[in-house]
Amino acid sequence: MTKKIQKVIIIGSGPAGLTAAIYAARANLNPIVFEGLQPGGQLTITTDVENYPGFPDGIMGPEMMDLFRKQAQRFEAETHFLTVDKVDLTERPFKVFVGDKIHHAETIIVSTGASAQLLGLESESKLMGYGVSACATCDGFFFKEKKVLIVGGGDSAMEEAIFLTKFASSVSIVHRRDELRASKIMQERALNNPKIDVIWNSSIERMIGDPSNGGLTGVVLKDTVSGETSELKCDGVFIAIGHTPNSDLFRGKLDLDEKGYIITGADNTSTSVDGVFASGDIQDTVYRQAVTAAGSGCMAALDAEHFLENNPLD
Ligand code: NAP
Repeated sequence: MTKKIQKVIIIGSGPAGLTAAIYAARANLNPIVFEGLQPGGQLTITTDVENYPGFPDGIMGPEMMDLFRKQAQRFEAETHFLTVDKVDLTERPFKVFVGDKIHHAETIIVSTGASAQLLGLESESKLMGYGVSACATCDGFFFKEKKVLIVGGGDSAMEEAIFLTKFASSVSIVHRRDELRASKIMQERALNNPKIDVIWNSSIERMIGDPSNGGLTGVVLKDTVSGETSELKCDGVFIAIGHTPNSDLFRGKLDLDEKGYIITGADNTSTSVDGVFASGDIQDTVYRQAVTAAGSGCMAALDAEHFLENNPLD
């Protein structure tokens, strides 16, 4: 029996992967999408999305990703709630291992995204989207004249704290040490902002609130030096303690940068292996927006289509 060889396999199902699927499907490349551990990607853990063009009244993150999926399926992209266990990129067709099946593909688009690091508290996951957020750009707008905390001491925390001052009445940076990790210039900008203060040597031990009744109302802080705990009222908590690219599958197989992001071409989505493309947050350390991810998913599908035309398998 001859093995079936797909034109395109897409790994990942956030805005990048599903946009790649829409474009590849409309180019008659019959893509298969393996959606992975978090179908729909990071937007499924946010609530309202108000900055995605085309939704003037906003849309819930999970609903938006359902629409992306439906749009891909409309053009007969095959989407599976399955996770890829392993890939073999040593020769074309590439091999994609899913459970006890091996799928063959002429091209692969990697859109496995990045995951915001979280504190790992039960109360944090319960209140995620209900006062707790891992994305100030996405959710800051909902905290007009509110008191918010931001956790972290790096450049992201400073940048997000400054961004949040456009909306919030006050922003307190909660940092576990007595010294920030952020660059001097970002520290200065944040510390000179009259709306920002820092709660040093502190970590959040618990978040307080009920998702079905107003969401977050405060946190329990722990002094990391004395161990003492105290309660602090607030309306929002933003976690900015870094992101992890979901690139474990590709370690040793594609060139990654020192943080594990896939390295792509300067103005395209090519990777270090011909025929493998990467789009979305797995290769984006700068913008990390749904709309930029979708844009790069479109680029990856066009790059794959072009590659297939010029590199037919015998
Ligand atoms: P980062 O530099 O790794 O900083 C993470 C921060 O979170 C650190 O202050 C760390 O504390 C804290 N942290 C980590 N785990 C924690 C935990 N479990 N509980 C409490 N705090 C925790 O990450 P980032 O700020 O996302 O920046 C990533 C990279 O992007 C950096 O190279 C940064 O310079 C760059 N970046 C640049 C800009 C800019 O230049 N405009 C903007 C954003 C990001 P400790 O300090 O105690 O380890």
